[in-house]
Amino acid sequence: MKKLLITLFLISIANTQVFSQVKKNKTMIKKVIKTEQEWKQTLTEQEYYVLRQKGTDRPSQGGLTSHFEKGTYHCAACNLQLFKSNSKFESHCGWPSFDDAIEGTVNFVRDTSHGMIRTEIICAACNSHLGHIFDDGPKETTGKRYCVNTTSIKFVKGEK
Ligand SMILES: [Zn+2]
Repeated sequence: MKKLLITLFLISIANTQVFSQVKKNKTMIKKVIKTEQEWKQTLTEQEYYVLRQKGTDRPSQGGLTSHFEKGTYHCAACNLQLFKSNSKFESHCGWPSFDDAIEGTVNFVRDTSHGMIRTEIICAACNSHLGHIFDDGPKETTGKRYCVNTTSIKFVKGEK
C-alpha cells in the first residue's frame, strides 16, 4: 500500500512538471494586443484584409511561395518568428507551405466558413490570421502542410 502511495505521489509530481512546462511555453509568447483601429493604421490594406479579416491571397508562385532562401519567416503584423526556412517545402498549391512551425508560435482554430471544416492557423502573439493547416504535407517529416499567405509573413534572411 505504501509503495502504491509513493508511486501515485511520484506520478502526480511528474504530471505537475509536465503541466508547468506546457504553461511556461505558453506564457513565453508575449501577447500583442491592439485595437482594430490601431491595426488599420499599422498594416497595409492587403495586410489588414488577410491578417485581421481572415482574407486569402490569390494563389501564385510569386510572393514567398517559391522562395527558398535560408532564414526565418515572421508574422507580418507583430514580427513574431513563426517558421524556419528548413521547414518550408514546395507544395505546388500556390501558397507558401511549411511542414512545421516554431514551437508554440502558432495556434489552431476550428474554421467552418465557406462550407468547409478546416483548421485555421493564427499567430500565438497577436491572433492574426496566417492560413490553414492540412494533413497532406510531406510524409517523411510531419505529414502536415501549414498553408500560409505571403501577406501574413515577412522573410528575414539568416543562417537557418
Ligand atoms: Zn503576430
